[in-house]
Amino acid sequence: MLKLTNENLLKSQCYIDGEWIDADNAETMDVLNPATGEVITSVPKMGQAETERAITAANAVQKNWAKRPAKERANILRNWFNLIMANQEDLAQIITAEMGKPLAESRGEVAYGASYIEWYAEEAKRVYGDTIPAPGDDKRIIVMKQPIGVIASITPWNFPNAMITRKIAPALAVGCATVMKPAEQTPLSALALCVLAEEAGLPKGLVNCVVGDPVAIGGEMTSNDIIRKLTFTGSTEVGRLLMRQSAQHIKKLGLELGGNAPFIVFDDADIDAAVEGAMISKYRNSGQTCVCANRIYVQEGVYDQFAEKLAAKVADLKIGNGAEDDVVQGPLIDDKAVAKVEAHLTDAVSKGAEIVCGGQRHELGRTFFEPTIVKNVTKEMKVAREETFGPIAPLFRFKDDADVIAQANDTEYGLASYFYAKDMSRVFRVAEELEYGMVGVNTGILSNEVAPFGGIKQSGLGREGSKFGLDDYLEIKYVLLSEI
Ligand code: ADP
Repeated sequence: MLKLTNENLLKSQCYIDGEWIDADNAETMDVLNPATGEVITSVPKMGQAETERAITAANAVQKNWAKRPAKERANILRNWFNLIMANQEDLAQIITAEMGKPLAESRGEVAYGASYIEWYAEEAKRVYGDTIPAPGDDKRIIVMKQPIGVIASITPWNFPNAMITRKIAPALAVGCATVMKPAEQTPLSALALCVLAEEAGLPKGLVNCVVGDPVAIGGEMTSNDIIRKLTFTGSTEVGRLLMRQSAQHIKKLGLELGGNAPFIVFDDADIDAAVEGAMISKYRNSGQTCVCANRIYVQEGVYDQFAEKLAAKVADLKIGNGAEDDVVQGPLIDDKAVAKVEAHLTDAVSKGAEIVCGGQRHELGRTFFEPTIVKNVTKEMKVAREETFGPIAPLFRFKDDADVIAQANDTEYGLASYFYAKDMSRVFRVAEELEYGMVGVNTGILSNEVAPFGGIKQSGLGREGSKFGLDDYLEIKYVLLSEI
């Protein structure tokens, strides 16, 4: 049973126009704990009509919100940040219950998610425009930045809290209104954030949350003319679909899609540090993040040493229900996720890869899977091309810099990449040649609120976090003042 200090944070209704409501047809869907299979609660299964109402409500209040002084908006966002941090433990318990990640990671996610609210509360006051020298003395050019309007967000289950704040915080900071749709598996974190948004003083209608049928809700979000921007984090396949649907109204898009992150260990690297980095990058959230190392390339001279040291660390990982003390690997989100991991492993082994450790469903049953290492992996295997999104570390061997850069870039994705090396000229060259939106050098973890998170190629459009993330929610207006 999920026991919270603040029981008001566990909601079984959606939040539209400042009211807690059920679906029009009273249908509901269960929210399950992936570690136990137990039903935590049920939530409304909403569709098109409720989404349309939420969008209308957001539209009704957006202009007034945008007119308020930035400092006022900033203060309300700051309240929201403070409330989230004051309820960090409960919010972490909710994440672990509905999603499965270990509590320590959930606490980290709450703080990470809140950091975007803190950052954008500060940045709200710094939406600067420009004046530009005009082509004639009788003219002046002013460039102002204005909020896009009403935005819709669709978010995944792997970071049920932080993926929402990363999108909503900059939007609210600059004066947009929002309608969010969390993943069906993890609506409870989203609803809890709405409870605290209301308490923080965010006006009714400014933050709305609809949960339910993704096709119906996404369909309304992409076909309703009021929505000026859709921001989505999820699979490239669904991103492509939403992009097509948004073409009708030429909506602005923010897309954080799949990744196929390379993690490269050069022969001059500090191998122990590289092993530490690989552990974090690969096994965090049981491998279920879009920036998790998907392909680990190790230079031939240090390959065996790296494999051995990594296997020793993996053997120490404690697997179990994330709510229990010391557990560092929780279950995968559902059966579909386990089936993908199994398919990738079977494919690799059938083409000559060798299992170093793990390789099977865990004895705990359900969706628990053993943290796994496979070696002698080649580019013909599925693990080289597709995002596994699970706890498999495939070890590829490479000869030299040119060889590994070509292999690392040989993918339609371009989100995160990592490499370990000491030689400075190598560090600069490799950082520049990797075709990725983010490069971690001698580190296995990259994301923070002050830096621009995002991908190139088919990994997406736009950036989240940092000053660049603010621009994604602003329109530029050029005003030419002419003397008469
Ligand atoms: P995953 O396979 O990791 O669940 P998805 O891309 O399917 O990734 O899901 C990410 C988000 O996209 C979730 O909130 C999900 O409900 C939503 N989603 C899935 N299909 C659609 C769709 N056809 N229209 C709108 N949203 C969708």
